[in-house]
Amino acid sequence: MTALDDALGDVYTEVLRRNPGELEFHQAVREVLESLGPVVAKRPQYTDAAVIRRLCEPERQLIFRVPWVDDAGRVQLNRGFRVEFNSALGPYKGGLRFHPSVYLGIVKFLGFEQVFKNALTGMPIGGGKGGSDFDPKGRSDAEIMRFCQSFMTELYRHIGEHTDVPAGDIGVGGREIGYLFGQYKRITNRYESGVLTGKGLTWGGSQVRTEATGYGTVFFVQDVLAARGASFDGRRVVVSGSGNVALYAAEKVQQLGGVVVACSDSSGYVVDDKGIDLELLKDVKQARRERIAVYAAESGARFVEDGSVWDVPCDVALPCATQNELDGGHAETLVRGGCVVVAEGANMPCTPQAVRVLESAGVVFVPGKAANAGGVATSALEMQQNASRDSWSFEHTEARLAEIMHGIHERCLETADEYGRPGSYVAGANIAGFTQVADAMLALGVI
Ligand code: GLU
Repeated sequence: MTALDDALGDVYTEVLRRNPGELEFHQAVREVLESLGPVVAKRPQYTDAAVIRRLCEPERQLIFRVPWVDDAGRVQLNRGFRVEFNSALGPYKGGLRFHPSVYLGIVKFLGFEQVFKNALTGMPIGGGKGGSDFDPKGRSDAEIMRFCQSFMTELYRHIGEHTDVPAGDIGVGGREIGYLFGQYKRITNRYESGVLTGKGLTWGGSQVRTEATGYGTVFFVQDVLAARGASFDGRRVVVSGSGNVALYAAEKVQQLGGVVVACSDSSGYVVDDKGIDLELLKDVKQARRERIAVYAAESGARFVEDGSVWDVPCDVALPCATQNELDGGHAETLVRGGCVVVAEGANMPCTPQAVRVLESAGVVFVPGKAANAGGVATSALEMQQNASRDSWSFEHTEARLAEIMHGIHERCLETADEYGRPGSYVAGANIAGFTQVADAMLALGVI
Protein backbone atom coordinates (compact mmCIF):
# COMPACT_ATOMS: atom_id res chain seq x y z
CA MET A 1 0.00 0.00 0.00
CA THR A 2 1.15 3.55 -0.65
CA ALA A 3 1.57 5.37 2.67
CA LEU A 4 -0.87 8.20 3.35
CA ASP A 5 0.44 11.48 4.76
CA ASP A 6 -0.83 12.66 8.16
CA ALA A 7 -4.00 14.51 7.19
CA LEU A 8 -5.12 11.84 4.72
CA GLY A 9 -4.16 9.07 7.15
CA ASP A 10 -6.46 10.66 9.75
CA VAL A 11 -9.32 10.79 7.26
CA TYR A 12 -8.81 7.11 6.48
CA THR A 13 -8.71 6.15 10.16
CA GLU A 14 -11.97 8.00 10.69
CA VAL A 15 -13.54 6.19 7.72
CA LEU A 16 -12.48 2.81 9.16
CA ARG A 17 -13.91 3.70 12.57
CA ARG A 18 -17.22 5.03 11.26
CA ASN A 19 -17.83 2.24 8.74
CA PRO A 20 -16.74 -1.00 10.41
CA GLY A 21 -16.67 -4.13 8.26
CA GLU A 22 -17.37 -2.33 4.99
CA LEU A 23 -14.26 -3.60 3.22
CA GLU A 24 -15.14 -2.57 -0.33
CA PHE A 25 -15.92 0.95 0.86
CA HIS A 26 -12.58 1.13 2.70
CA GLN A 27 -10.82 -0.04 -0.46
CA ALA A 28 -12.52 2.56 -2.68
CA VAL A 29 -11.76 5.39 -0.23
CA ARG A 30 -8.14 4.36 0.24
CA GLU A 31 -7.59 4.20 -3.50
CA VAL A 32 -8.72 7.82 -3.88
CA LEU A 33 -6.85 9.11 -0.80
CA GLU A 34 -3.61 7.59 -2.14
CA SER A 35 -3.86 9.98 -5.10
CA LEU A 36 -4.62 13.13 -3.13
CA GLY A 37 -1.23 13.81 -1.47
CA PRO A 38 -0.10 16.34 -4.12
CA VAL A 39 -3.51 18.03 -4.03
CA VAL A 40 -3.62 18.74 -0.29
CA ALA A 41 -0.01 19.92 -0.45
CA LYS A 42 -0.89 22.43 -3.17
CA ARG A 43 -4.32 23.51 -1.91
CA PRO A 44 -4.62 23.58 1.89
CA GLN A 45 -8.12 25.06 1.70
CA TYR A 46 -9.49 21.55 1.12
CA THR A 47 -8.10 20.38 4.45
CA ASP A 48 -9.15 23.57 6.27
CA ALA A 49 -12.76 23.14 5.16
CA ALA A 50 -12.70 19.39 5.92
CA VAL A 51 -13.74 18.76 2.32
CA ILE A 52 -12.17 15.32 2.11
CA ARG A 53 -13.69 14.24 5.42
CA ARG A 54 -17.10 15.47 4.33
CA LEU A 55 -16.74 13.77 0.96
CA CYS A 56 -16.22 10.41 2.66
CA GLU A 57 -19.46 10.73 4.61
CA PRO A 58 -22.62 10.19 2.50
CA GLU A 59 -25.16 12.98 2.70
CA ARG A 60 -27.92 10.45 3.39
CA GLN A 61 -28.14 6.65 3.71
CA LEU A 62 -31.45 4.88 3.36
CA ILE A 63 -32.12 1.26 4.30
CA PHE A 64 -35.59 -0.18 3.95
CA ARG A 65 -37.60 -3.38 4.05
CA VAL A 66 -38.74 -4.89 0.75
CA PRO A 67 -41.39 -7.57 1.27
CA TRP A 68 -42.90 -9.33 -1.75
CA VAL A 69 -44.86 -12.45 -2.61
CA ASP A 70 -43.30 -15.17 -4.79
CA ASP A 71 -45.11 -17.30 -7.38
CA ALA A 72 -45.85 -19.98 -4.78
CA GLY A 73 -47.63 -17.41 -2.60
CA ARG A 74 -44.85 -17.30 0.03
CA VAL A 75 -43.78 -13.99 1.54
CA GLN A 76 -40.17 -13.12 0.73
CA LEU A 77 -38.09 -10.46 2.38
CA ASN A 78 -35.18 -8.39 1.09
CA ARG A 79 -33.36 -5.29 2.13
CA GLY A 80 -33.30 -2.15 -0.04
CA PHE A 81 -30.66 0.58 -0.04
CA ARG A 82 -30.12 4.01 -1.48
CA VAL A 83 -27.01 5.93 -0.50
CA GLU A 84 -27.25 9.57 -1.56
CA PHE A 85 -23.58 10.35 -1.46
CA ASN A 86 -22.94 13.83 -2.78
CA SER A 87 -25.11 16.44 -4.49
CA ALA A 88 -22.62 19.31 -4.88
CA LEU A 89 -22.72 19.06 -8.69
CA GLY A 90 -26.31 18.00 -9.31
CA PRO A 91 -28.99 15.54 -8.26
CA TYR A 92 -27.68 12.24 -6.89
CA LYS A 93 -27.12 9.96 -9.87
CA GLY A 94 -26.17 6.32 -10.02
CA GLY A 95 -27.53 2.88 -10.57
CA LEU A 96 -29.35 0.21 -8.60
CA ARG A 97 -27.77 -3.21 -8.15
CA PHE A 98 -29.84 -6.33 -7.44
CA HIS A 99 -27.48 -9.09 -6.34
CA PRO A 100 -27.28 -11.32 -3.25
CA SER A 101 -23.88 -9.83 -2.34
CA VAL A 102 -25.34 -6.33 -1.89
CA TYR A 103 -24.98 -4.83 1.59
CA LEU A 104 -24.30 -1.31 2.80
CA GLY A 105 -20.52 -1.56 2.17
CA ILE A 106 -21.03 -2.42 -1.51
CA VAL A 107 -23.55 0.35 -2.05
CA LYS A 108 -21.23 2.86 -0.34
CA PHE A 109 -18.20 1.87 -2.38
CA LEU A 110 -20.23 2.21 -5.55
CA GLY A 111 -21.73 5.52 -4.44
CA PHE A 112 -18.33 6.92 -3.50
CA GLU A 113 -16.82 5.97 -6.87
CA GLN A 114 -19.85 7.39 -8.62
CA VAL A 115 -19.25 10.85 -7.13
CA PHE A 116 -15.83 11.13 -8.82
CA LYS A 117 -16.87 9.38 -12.01
CA ASN A 118 -19.85 11.64 -12.48
CA ALA A 119 -17.71 14.73 -11.84
CA LEU A 120 -15.23 13.54 -14.47
CA THR A 121 -17.94 13.41 -17.12
CA GLY A 122 -18.31 17.18 -16.77
CA MET A 123 -22.10 16.76 -16.58
CA PRO A 124 -24.22 18.32 -13.79
CA ILE A 125 -24.77 15.18 -11.74
CA GLY A 126 -24.01 14.27 -8.14
CA GLY A 127 -23.35 10.72 -7.00
CA GLY A 128 -25.44 8.00 -5.39
CA LYS A 129 -26.07 4.28 -5.60
CA GLY A 130 -28.64 1.80 -4.42
CA GLY A 131 -29.88 -1.71 -4.71
CA SER A 132 -30.94 -4.79 -2.88
CA ASP A 133 -29.72 -8.22 -1.80
CA PHE A 134 -32.51 -9.62 -3.99
CA ASP A 135 -31.28 -12.41 -6.28
CA PRO A 136 -33.00 -12.20 -9.67
CA LYS A 137 -31.50 -15.53 -10.80
CA GLY A 138 -34.23 -18.07 -11.52
CA ARG A 139 -37.05 -15.65 -10.72
CA SER A 140 -40.03 -15.38 -13.06
CA ASP A 141 -40.99 -12.15 -14.79
CA ALA A 142 -43.96 -11.79 -12.47
CA GLU A 143 -41.72 -12.15 -9.40
CA ILE A 144 -39.28 -9.57 -10.75
CA MET A 145 -42.21 -7.20 -11.31
CA ARG A 146 -43.61 -7.66 -7.80
CA PHE A 147 -40.18 -7.16 -6.29
CA CYS A 148 -39.57 -3.98 -8.31
CA GLN A 149 -43.00 -2.63 -7.36
CA SER A 150 -42.36 -3.24 -3.67
CA PHE A 151 -38.89 -1.70 -3.89
CA MET A 152 -40.28 1.43 -5.55
CA THR A 153 -43.16 1.68 -3.07
CA GLU A 154 -40.55 2.83 -0.57
CA LEU A 155 -37.96 4.39 -2.88
CA TYR A 156 -40.37 6.77 -4.66
CA ARG A 157 -40.49 9.19 -1.71
CA HIS A 158 -36.73 9.73 -1.84
CA ILE A 159 -36.17 10.28 -5.58
CA GLY A 160 -37.16 12.77 -8.28
CA GLU A 161 -35.74 14.35 -11.40
CA HIS A 162 -34.16 17.18 -9.36
CA THR A 163 -33.34 15.07 -6.30
CA ASP A 164 -32.04 11.62 -7.08
CA VAL A 165 -32.09 9.76 -10.40
CA PRO A 166 -31.44 6.01 -10.23
CA ALA A 167 -30.60 3.78 -13.21
CA GLY A 168 -29.43 0.20 -13.72
CA ASP A 169 -26.38 -1.71 -12.57
CA ILE A 170 -25.79 -5.46 -12.12
CA GLY A 171 -29.18 -7.26 -12.15
CA VAL A 172 -31.10 -4.15 -13.19
CA GLY A 173 -31.69 -3.63 -16.91
CA GLY A 174 -34.46 -2.37 -19.16
CA ARG A 175 -37.05 -4.79 -17.80
CA GLU A 176 -36.50 -3.76 -14.17
CA ILE A 177 -36.34 -0.03 -15.01
CA GLY A 178 -39.71 -0.48 -16.75
CA TYR A 179 -41.38 -2.01 -13.69
CA LEU A 180 -39.77 0.58 -11.40
CA PHE A 181 -40.85 3.48 -13.60
CA GLY A 182 -44.38 2.09 -13.91
CA GLN A 183 -44.76 1.92 -10.14
CA TYR A 184 -43.28 5.41 -9.65
CA LYS A 185 -45.71 6.80 -12.21
CA ARG A 186 -48.64 5.05 -10.58
CA ILE A 187 -47.85 6.18 -7.04
CA THR A 188 -47.03 9.79 -7.89
CA ASN A 189 -49.48 10.26 -10.76
CA ARG A 190 -46.68 12.05 -12.66
CA TYR A 191 -45.08 11.11 -15.96
CA GLU A 192 -41.72 12.29 -14.70
CA SER A 193 -39.40 10.83 -17.33
CA GLY A 194 -36.26 12.27 -15.77
CA VAL A 195 -36.64 10.33 -12.52
CA LEU A 196 -34.95 7.19 -13.87
CA THR A 197 -32.55 6.57 -16.73
CA GLY A 198 -32.06 3.47 -18.83
CA LYS A 199 -35.69 3.63 -19.94
CA GLY A 200 -37.00 1.93 -23.08
CA LEU A 201 -36.67 3.81 -26.34
CA THR A 202 -40.44 4.19 -26.81
CA TRP A 203 -41.03 5.70 -23.35
CA GLY A 204 -38.34 8.29 -22.74
CA GLY A 205 -35.12 6.30 -23.03
CA SER A 206 -32.07 7.44 -24.93
CA GLN A 207 -30.42 5.87 -27.92
CA VAL A 208 -27.01 4.39 -27.02
CA ARG A 209 -27.73 4.19 -23.24
CA THR A 210 -27.73 0.38 -23.40
CA GLU A 211 -24.44 0.30 -25.29
CA ALA A 212 -22.83 3.31 -23.60
CA THR A 213 -20.78 1.81 -20.76
CA GLY A 214 -19.14 -0.80 -22.99
CA TYR A 215 -18.75 1.48 -26.01
CA GLY A 216 -17.35 4.26 -23.81
CA THR A 217 -14.74 1.96 -22.27
CA VAL A 218 -13.54 0.99 -25.70
CA PHE A 219 -13.49 4.61 -26.94
CA PHE A 220 -11.26 5.40 -23.96
CA VAL A 221 -8.88 2.53 -24.76
CA GLN A 222 -8.86 3.65 -28.38
CA ASP A 223 -7.42 6.98 -27.16
CA VAL A 224 -4.92 5.18 -24.90
CA LEU A 225 -3.72 3.13 -27.86
CA ALA A 226 -3.70 6.13 -30.20
CA ALA A 227 -1.50 8.04 -27.74
CA ARG A 228 1.01 5.23 -28.28
CA GLY A 229 0.63 5.23 -32.05
CA ALA A 230 -1.42 2.01 -31.94
CA SER A 231 -5.02 0.89 -32.57
CA PHE A 232 -7.40 -2.01 -31.92
CA ASP A 233 -6.75 -3.43 -35.35
CA GLY A 234 -5.89 -7.12 -35.02
CA ARG A 235 -5.49 -6.90 -31.22
CA ARG A 236 -6.50 -9.83 -29.03
CA VAL A 237 -8.94 -8.64 -26.39
CA VAL A 238 -10.30 -10.50 -23.37
CA VAL A 239 -13.54 -9.21 -21.85
CA SER A 240 -14.72 -10.67 -18.57
CA GLY A 241 -18.44 -10.95 -17.94
CA SER A 242 -21.21 -11.24 -20.51
CA GLY A 243 -23.70 -8.73 -19.19
CA ASN A 244 -24.57 -5.39 -20.64
CA VAL A 245 -21.14 -3.78 -20.21
CA ALA A 246 -19.20 -6.76 -21.53
CA LEU A 247 -21.40 -7.41 -24.58
CA TYR A 248 -21.21 -3.86 -25.87
CA ALA A 249 -17.53 -3.47 -25.06
CA ALA A 250 -16.99 -6.59 -27.17
CA GLU A 251 -19.19 -5.21 -29.94
CA LYS A 252 -17.23 -1.95 -30.18
CA VAL A 253 -13.89 -3.80 -30.09
CA GLN A 254 -15.05 -5.86 -33.06
CA GLN A 255 -16.26 -2.77 -34.92
CA LEU A 256 -12.80 -1.27 -34.45
CA GLY A 257 -11.05 -4.34 -35.85
CA GLY A 258 -10.05 -6.09 -32.62
CA VAL A 259 -10.66 -9.78 -31.90
CA VAL A 260 -12.52 -10.66 -28.70
CA VAL A 261 -11.07 -14.06 -27.89
CA ALA A 262 -12.73 -14.77 -24.54
CA CYS A 263 -15.53 -13.73 -22.22
CA SER A 264 -17.12 -15.24 -19.13
CA ASP A 265 -19.96 -15.48 -16.65
CA SER A 266 -20.04 -16.70 -13.07
CA SER A 267 -20.11 -20.34 -14.26
CA GLY A 268 -16.91 -20.24 -16.38
CA TYR A 269 -15.47 -18.77 -19.54
CA VAL A 270 -15.41 -19.37 -23.30
CA VAL A 271 -12.38 -19.05 -25.60
CA ASP A 272 -12.33 -18.83 -29.36
CA ASP A 273 -9.24 -17.62 -31.20
CA LYS A 274 -11.39 -16.81 -34.24
CA GLY A 275 -13.36 -14.37 -32.12
CA ILE A 276 -16.62 -14.60 -30.17
CA ASP A 277 -19.86 -14.72 -32.20
CA LEU A 278 -21.56 -11.76 -30.56
CA GLU A 279 -24.97 -12.15 -32.14
CA LEU A 280 -25.19 -15.68 -30.73
CA LEU A 281 -23.81 -14.60 -27.35
CA LYS A 282 -26.39 -11.80 -27.11
CA ASP A 283 -29.15 -14.22 -27.98
CA VAL A 284 -28.00 -16.71 -25.31
CA LYS A 285 -27.39 -14.15 -22.55
CA GLN A 286 -29.93 -11.41 -23.22
CA ALA A 287 -32.89 -13.01 -25.01
CA ARG A 288 -32.72 -16.50 -23.47
CA ARG A 289 -31.03 -15.55 -20.15
CA GLU A 290 -28.97 -18.76 -20.34
CA ARG A 291 -25.51 -19.65 -18.99
CA ILE A 292 -22.42 -19.16 -21.14
CA ALA A 293 -21.95 -22.95 -21.54
CA VAL A 294 -24.99 -22.87 -23.84
CA TYR A 295 -23.11 -20.42 -26.07
CA ALA A 296 -20.10 -22.77 -26.14
CA ALA A 297 -22.27 -25.77 -27.04
CA GLU A 298 -23.92 -23.89 -29.92
CA SER A 299 -20.85 -22.06 -31.28
CA GLY A 300 -18.15 -24.71 -30.91
CA ALA A 301 -16.07 -22.40 -28.68
CA ARG A 302 -14.17 -24.03 -25.82
CA PHE A 303 -15.89 -23.76 -22.44
CA VAL A 304 -13.65 -23.75 -19.37
CA GLU A 305 -15.29 -24.26 -16.01
CA ASP A 306 -12.26 -24.01 -13.73
CA GLY A 307 -9.60 -21.37 -13.82
CA SER A 308 -9.96 -17.80 -14.88
CA VAL A 309 -10.64 -15.87 -18.05
CA TRP A 310 -7.42 -13.95 -17.25
CA ASP A 311 -5.45 -17.09 -18.13
CA VAL A 312 -6.17 -16.34 -21.80
CA PRO A 313 -3.25 -14.35 -23.30
CA CYS A 314 -4.28 -10.99 -24.76
CA ASP A 315 -3.09 -7.49 -25.70
CA VAL A 316 -5.97 -5.69 -23.99
CA ALA A 317 -7.94 -6.86 -20.96
CA LEU A 318 -11.33 -5.36 -20.14
CA PRO A 319 -12.67 -6.54 -16.78
CA CYS A 320 -16.42 -5.95 -17.15
CA ALA A 321 -17.92 -8.32 -14.56
CA THR A 322 -17.73 -7.21 -10.93
CA GLN A 323 -15.57 -5.86 -8.09
CA ASN A 324 -12.29 -7.55 -7.19
CA GLU A 325 -12.52 -10.12 -9.97
CA LEU A 326 -8.92 -9.55 -11.11
CA ASP A 327 -6.31 -10.05 -8.36
CA GLY A 328 -2.53 -9.83 -8.14
CA GLY A 329 -2.03 -13.38 -9.45
CA HIS A 330 -4.28 -12.73 -12.44
CA ALA A 331 -2.39 -9.51 -13.13
CA GLU A 332 0.90 -11.42 -13.18
CA THR A 333 -0.57 -13.89 -15.65
CA LEU A 334 -1.75 -11.02 -17.87
CA VAL A 335 1.71 -9.42 -17.78
CA ARG A 336 3.33 -12.74 -18.76
CA GLY A 337 0.83 -13.09 -21.62
CA GLY A 338 1.92 -9.75 -23.09
CA CYS A 339 -1.02 -7.59 -22.06
CA VAL A 340 -0.38 -3.85 -22.59
CA VAL A 341 -3.62 -2.18 -21.44
CA VAL A 342 -6.14 -3.03 -18.71
CA ALA A 343 -9.25 -0.84 -18.53
CA GLU A 344 -12.04 -1.33 -15.99
CA GLY A 345 -15.47 -1.62 -17.61
CA ALA A 346 -16.89 -2.74 -14.26
CA ASN A 347 -16.59 -0.83 -10.98
CA MET A 348 -13.34 -1.65 -9.11
CA PRO A 349 -12.78 -5.07 -10.73
CA CYS A 350 -9.02 -4.91 -10.07
CA THR A 351 -7.74 -5.41 -6.53
CA PRO A 352 -5.16 -2.90 -5.23
CA GLN A 353 -2.52 -5.64 -5.55
CA ALA A 354 -3.46 -6.18 -9.21
CA VAL A 355 -3.10 -2.47 -9.92
CA ARG A 356 0.35 -2.45 -8.35
CA VAL A 357 1.46 -5.46 -10.39
CA LEU A 358 0.20 -3.92 -13.63
CA GLU A 359 1.66 -0.49 -13.03
CA SER A 360 5.07 -1.78 -11.98
CA ALA A 361 5.19 -3.94 -15.13
CA GLY A 362 4.45 -0.88 -17.27
CA VAL A 363 0.96 -2.02 -18.28
CA VAL A 364 -1.37 0.95 -18.81
CA PHE A 365 -4.14 0.77 -16.22
CA VAL A 366 -7.37 2.77 -16.56
CA PRO A 367 -9.63 2.87 -13.48
CA GLY A 368 -13.37 2.41 -13.83
CA LYS A 369 -14.26 5.93 -12.81
CA ALA A 370 -12.66 7.10 -16.05
CA ALA A 371 -13.06 4.06 -18.33
CA ASN A 372 -16.68 3.22 -17.57
CA ALA A 373 -18.04 6.76 -17.17
CA GLY A 374 -19.76 6.58 -20.56
CA GLY A 375 -22.77 4.81 -19.05
CA VAL A 376 -23.64 7.49 -16.58
CA ALA A 377 -22.65 10.23 -19.03
CA THR A 378 -25.24 8.88 -21.46
CA SER A 379 -27.73 8.76 -18.59
CA ALA A 380 -27.09 12.49 -18.21
CA LEU A 381 -27.77 12.85 -21.95
CA GLU A 382 -31.02 10.94 -21.38
CA MET A 383 -31.91 13.46 -18.64
CA GLN A 384 -31.17 16.31 -21.05
CA GLN A 385 -33.46 14.80 -23.67
CA ASN A 386 -36.21 14.24 -21.08
CA ALA A 387 -35.95 17.82 -19.79
CA SER A 388 -36.31 19.21 -23.31
CA ARG A 389 -38.90 16.56 -24.35
CA ASP A 390 -36.64 15.67 -27.24
CA SER A 391 -35.01 12.51 -28.53
CA TRP A 392 -31.78 12.36 -30.45
CA SER A 393 -30.61 9.99 -33.16
CA PHE A 394 -28.27 7.10 -32.48
CA GLU A 395 -25.48 8.76 -34.48
CA HIS A 396 -25.75 12.08 -32.67
CA THR A 397 -25.85 10.44 -29.23
CA GLU A 398 -22.93 8.15 -30.00
CA ALA A 399 -20.91 11.12 -31.25
CA ARG A 400 -21.65 12.94 -27.97
CA LEU A 401 -20.54 9.86 -26.01
CA ALA A 402 -17.30 9.61 -28.00
CA GLU A 403 -16.63 13.30 -27.42
CA ILE A 404 -17.23 12.96 -23.66
CA MET A 405 -14.89 9.96 -23.39
CA HIS A 406 -12.27 11.79 -25.37
CA GLY A 407 -12.63 14.75 -22.99
CA ILE A 408 -12.21 12.51 -19.93
CA HIS A 409 -9.08 10.97 -21.45
CA GLU A 410 -7.57 14.40 -22.06
CA ARG A 411 -8.51 15.64 -18.62
CA CYS A 412 -6.96 12.63 -16.89
CA LEU A 413 -3.66 13.11 -18.71
CA GLU A 414 -3.55 16.89 -18.19
CA THR A 415 -4.34 16.57 -14.49
CA ALA A 416 -1.81 13.80 -13.98
CA ASP A 417 0.82 16.03 -15.59
CA GLU A 418 -0.18 19.05 -13.52
CA TYR A 419 0.19 17.13 -10.25
CA GLY A 420 3.47 15.44 -11.11
CA ARG A 421 2.13 11.97 -12.00
CA PRO A 422 2.55 11.97 -15.81
CA GLY A 423 0.82 9.11 -17.58
CA SER A 424 -1.09 7.92 -14.49
CA TYR A 425 -4.77 7.55 -15.32
CA VAL A 426 -5.41 6.66 -11.67
CA ALA A 427 -3.95 9.92 -10.37
CA GLY A 428 -5.51 11.90 -13.21
CA ALA A 429 -9.02 10.49 -12.70
CA ASN A 430 -8.97 10.74 -8.92
CA ILE A 431 -7.56 14.25 -8.80
CA ALA A 432 -9.66 15.69 -11.63
CA GLY A 433 -12.85 14.18 -10.19
CA PHE A 434 -11.95 15.26 -6.68
CA THR A 435 -11.07 18.89 -7.45
CA GLN A 436 -14.27 19.38 -9.42
CA VAL A 437 -16.48 18.19 -6.54
CA ALA A 438 -14.30 19.79 -3.85
CA ASP A 439 -14.42 23.23 -5.48
CA ALA A 440 -18.21 23.05 -5.67
CA MET A 441 -18.37 21.98 -2.01
CA LEU A 442 -16.17 24.92 -1.00
CA ALA A 443 -18.41 27.32 -2.92
CA LEU A 444 -21.59 25.93 -1.34
CA GLY A 445 -20.35 26.40 2.23
CA VAL A 446 -20.43 24.01 5.14
CA ILE A 447 -23.55 21.97 4.39
N1 GLU B 1 -24.43 1.82 -12.86
C1 GLU B 1 -23.74 2.60 -13.83
C2 GLU B 1 -22.41 3.06 -13.29
O1 GLU B 1 -21.79 2.34 -12.54
C3 GLU B 1 -24.58 3.72 -14.43
C4 GLU B 1 -25.25 4.64 -13.49
C5 GLU B 1 -26.24 5.58 -14.16
O2 GLU B 1 -26.42 5.55 -15.37
O3 GLU B 1 -26.81 6.38 -13.43
O4 GLU B 1 -21.89 4.11 -13.60
